[in-house]
Order: sequence, then C-alpha cells, then structure tokens
Amino acid sequence: MKVPFLDLKAQYNSIKDEVLPEIHNVLDNTAYVMGKPVFNFEENFAKEHGVNHCTALSSGTDGNHVALWALGVGYGDEVIMPANTFIATAWGATLNGATPVFVDCHPESYNLDPEKVEAAITPKTKAIVAVHLYGQPADMDPLSEIAKKHNLFLLEDAAQAHFAEYKGKRIGGLSDIASYSFYPGKNLGAYGEGGAVTTNNEELATKAKMIRDHGGKEKYNHEIYGHNYRMSGIQGAVLGVKLNHLGKWTDGRRSVAQKYRELLSDIDGIKLTKEMDYAKHVYHLFVIQVKGKEGEERKANRDRLQKFLGENDVASGLHYPVPLHQQTCFADLGYKYGDFPVTEELAEQGLSLPMYAELTDEQIKYVSDTIHKFFE
Ligand SMILES: *Cc1c(COP(=O)(O)O)cnc(C)c1O
Repeated sequence: MKVPFLDLKAQYNSIKDEVLPEIHNVLDNTAYVMGKPVFNFEENFAKEHGVNHCTALSSGTDGNHVALWALGVGYGDEVIMPANTFIATAWGATLNGATPVFVDCHPESYNLDPEKVEAAITPKTKAIVAVHLYGQPADMDPLSEIAKKHNLFLLEDAAQAHFAEYKGKRIGGLSDIASYSFYPGKNLGAYGEGGAVTTNNEELATKAKMIRDHGGKEKYNHEIYGHNYRMSGIQGAVLGVKLNHLGKWTDGRRSVAQKYRELLSDIDGIKLTKEMDYAKHVYHLFVIQVKGKEGEERKANRDRLQKFLGENDVASGLHYPVPLHQQTCFADLGYKYGDFPVTEELAEQGLSLPMYAELTDEQIKYVSDTIHKFFE
C-alpha cells in the first residue's frame, strides 16, 4: 500500500465540478488580478474567523511582510518569534529591515513559550509574532498580557492554522494582525500562491490594502510606500469554493489525528503531539517525536524510522530539521546550538506523518502497523 504525505489530487477530484466553472468565469470575465471573487473571498474569510477585515495577498510570506510593515516596524527594531517555525516567519521581520529575535518553544504545545518571552525583550523590541504551528494555536492570553505590559504589537502567523480555535474562539482576531498562507499544501490551499492578513483594526486594514496595491487607494495616487502583493482572480475563485469545504476537511484531519492517537499510543519509543486544553488543533501536520539518546546521535532513531517508512511506501516529513537560530543566513545573529533545547529536540526527533482529510482507515492502519513493525 502506498501512503503519500499529502494527496492534493484526491481533494481536487472531489470538488472539480464545482471549482472549474468558477475558474472559467474568471477567464471569461478576464478578471485576472483581484476582482469580485477575491473581494467575496475576503469578506467570507473574515466572517469565518470572526474578524472585521481581511486583505487577500499574493502569499503568506507577503502576509508576514505586510503585517509588520502596516504596523510601522522597521530598521533598528527587534521582533520576537519562535525558533521553531518555517523561515517565512522571520522574513516578515527582515524584509522590513528589523531583526528577528528567537525564543524557545513550549515542550508540549511546540509553540512560542510565554514564560521565555520576557527575557528576550529589549528597548528595541517592537513586536511579538506568535505562530500557530502545525495547526495548534499558541497560548495567546499570556502573550497578550506580556505585549500589553511592554507596549508591544502582537501578531499571529496563522499560515498553518485556518479555522483553529483558542479557548473556543477562532484564531485570526486574537492579536493586532494575523497572516495566513494559501500555499497549495496548507489546510486551505489555492491552485498557486496566495495569502492574506486579517485584523479588527480598520486603520491597519486600510494600510494593508494600500501597501498591497502600490500604496494608494486610487490608481496613480500613492499616499504611502507600497508594493504589488495583489491576489490573482483565479486564486480568489478557487479559495472561495474551497472555503465552503474547509469545515468538513478540518473535521477530517481531526479524525485522522484521533485515529493515529488510538493506534500509536501504546508505542513507548514515540511521543505524540499533545492537543492543549485551550486549543482546537486543525492538524496541518501530525508530528510525532521518535525518542533518541542525548547528543550527536539523538536523531538516529528518527532517521531510521523515516527510512523504514519510506521503504514501505509511507511518506513522511521533517518540520523543521534546521531551526531558525541554526540557519546559515542568521549566523551573524550569534546564536549557537544549545540555546533552544526544546526546539532542537524537536528538530532532531520530530517526524510528520501523512496528514490530509482523504486518508482512508486502511491507510492510517497501514502507517500505524508499519511503525509498530519498526519498533518490534
Ligand atoms: C507556509 C508558511 C508561511 C509562508 O507562506 P507562503 O504562502 O508559502 O509564502 C509562513 N509561515 C508559516 C508558519 C508557514 O508554514
């Protein structure tokens, strides 16, 4: 049996009849950039997340850039973020000329650890970026308190967490501004690149919309600096259709996660992701930790399990094998191995299992059986 990491074709086949006419409409209307499908999507996406404003963009990376740009974060400023995240979180700071400052993640949630944030604050700190990594919301209440106390902006990188909930409320409106990715492999994926920011702050929303379109509200009148971060019409149409299915797909992912938990909880050699009491996890990724020995060889067991899975036609992934503080591009920042032990443990022991709504019970069982076989 073959189990891919992600099966975009299965999802496409299930909505083909619905999505193709919408794409044809865009082509018939030659509305290639922005246009009605994009504006409709913005409205519905904001509504789904309980926020007032959504600005559709060309990617999630651009969302991270626009969010800090709209807040006025720039040269000489520091932006606190987890070391355990995808590189694009950091580009939000660097593209604005600001410096990323890394903090370790919490040993159970794998997200920014609020207890370690205050120690990283300096007079230059302007913002904290909480990432809802793997689809699980970060612990926003204590982070909000810290941000308020030190007069800092708080942001959410929600690229992996559309529809996730924190204490019963959907993410996206729990900070000054949140960014999302619609990269095809994300929980809500376009048929190309796409992203967005959401906020309850009208002034910020207006700024984000201006930055997206050359710094103005009308053509050829540029009030502020801007860029071209517009969403294409086809992506707006595709996302509009897919948004209607996201609730069902999210339930599907949660059900797959539940089955993995039931089937894998008896294996001593692995640690499963915890769903925190405050969270409704949307399982962009299902990350297990393969326990290893301290030191150089700690990741040997993980690597061997990944190889064994591959030999048995089960795909798996690493998220993320090189934490941000160990990236060559950030060598100048002066971090070293050992600075963030929880992040490093996850980088060396973490393994992401196949995760998508269309996984069948047989496939889930086969993944579990293969992992059991490895440990026997
Ligand atoms: C995917 C991702 C991004 C970037 O989104 P793109 O649309 O690929 O540019 C940013 N942050 C995180 C945490 C991501 O997973």
